[in-house]
Amino acid sequence: MTETINLANKIEKQLPAELVNFMQVAGEVAQSRGQSLYLVGGVVRDLLLGRANFDLDLVVEGNAIELAQQLIEIKQGKITTHPRFGTAKLQWNKWSVDLATARSETYVKPGALPRVKPSSLNSDLFRRDFTINTMAIHLNPGQYGELIDPHEGIADLEHKLIRVLHEKSFTDDATRIWRGLRYEQRLNFQLETNTLQLLKRDVTMLDTISSDRIRYEMECVLQEERPEKVFRRAGELNVLQSLDPALKGNGWLAEKFKLARQLTSPNLPPFGLYLSLLAYRLTEEESEHLISRLRLSKSVTQTLRDTMAIKTQLQALADPVLNPSGIYRLLHGYLPSAITANSLAGDSNVACQHIQLFLNKYRYVKPVLNGNDLIEMGIAPGPRIKEILQLLHEARLDGKVTTKQDEEELVEGVGKGRGKSPSKGRIKRGAAPFNPLTK
Ligand code: ATP
Ligand code: MG
Repeated sequence: MTETINLANKIEKQLPAELVNFMQVAGEVAQSRGQSLYLVGGVVRDLLLGRANFDLDLVVEGNAIELAQQLIEIKQGKITTHPRFGTAKLQWNKWSVDLATARSETYVKPGALPRVKPSSLNSDLFRRDFTINTMAIHLNPGQYGELIDPHEGIADLEHKLIRVLHEKSFTDDATRIWRGLRYEQRLNFQLETNTLQLLKRDVTMLDTISSDRIRYEMECVLQEERPEKVFRRAGELNVLQSLDPALKGNGWLAEKFKLARQLTSPNLPPFGLYLSLLAYRLTEEESEHLISRLRLSKSVTQTLRDTMAIKTQLQALADPVLNPSGIYRLLHGYLPSAITANSLAGDSNVACQHIQLFLNKYRYVKPVLNGNDLIEMGIAPGPRIKEILQLLHEARLDGKVTTKQDEEELVEGVGKGRGKSPSKGRIKRGAAPFNPLTK
């Protein structure tokens, strides 16, 4: 008989007192309802590894929603319930806890969402992805802190192995392939030999996964501390290529991801920036394929398209004598993440410097005079106003005007320059004294 491991001390040490107290109370309430309550999943794994994780997932053998309703009476907060799934979320200022009714799942078709029905803790653990995620801790008084480990998760933690529970795991749900790579790389573990074979066998099952679910997996990968490690491994195992055959997860990507993080630190780079770097070396067609495979949001799609568009301008941007208004013309109107992606990924130093100048300086430059000022100065309302404002803007950028007075003189000068115009101050269509591109 194996001895019982009790993790009450670890819970006490590693989790915030408020959450520990909540779990004890929750265990007592469940007991009084004749139910068993458990802490499950990632937090149990991380407690054993000594890694910080305060995302509590509780599973109850019985009705989770009723239990949650009773608990929120005791510790006042917000409750959200999902009767269809038998789950509830409790939220307080600082913390949130998920409660679920223990359930079993059957997969009718690979990749489709499973059929679920209420069940025992053991069935609930059996539907999970990897042994290290299938441990639970009893929370009822009397058994509080006892570890339940039906699939030898603790041994796999010790041996640093990622192991599926059965050989249909990746066929049932191929998102587990990405999940497996994430855990492997995050924890510096290894896919256990048979799991690795199954993964290789089932890589094509990734095609059964909907765009929304694959995109979610990408979001999770890109939340990791070092997503480049996951992509490198995914590249080795042909997992990355299932997104698009031309994608590469090599050292180039690692270098660019690191630069992106340095730039946005202490925040993580936004999803669109990371993804633009991942897609950077794709052709436009391949990038469109990725956009539709991941069914990207409008704004992320735009970031990728802008990235590709700017890429085609890099040669022009690499011209060392390009003046500020010229740089502005080439870059304005594109999303900042796409511009940043090019500054990180482009291979011309000059272009990169020009992009930096745009991002840090030129994009904020504005003339002092506005349309109303021009009208007051005698310029007739109409498209000419826009042209003159653009002229002023470019003169500002290029340092040809630096004060309001300079701007006024320029407006007057331009007016006089076209002085034969019938109405005073009018400027002829097509006038463009400062054209940086034809310098
Ligand atoms: P993380 O630290 O990445 O949040 P986690 O283990 O908490 O890791 P979640 O994605 O939050 O992972 O999911 C919680 C638990 O639900 C997992 O530990 C796992 O047991 C189970 N799980 C999640 N997704 C799947 C899946 N696709 N197939 C099987 N089990 C899953
Ligand atoms: Mg989690």
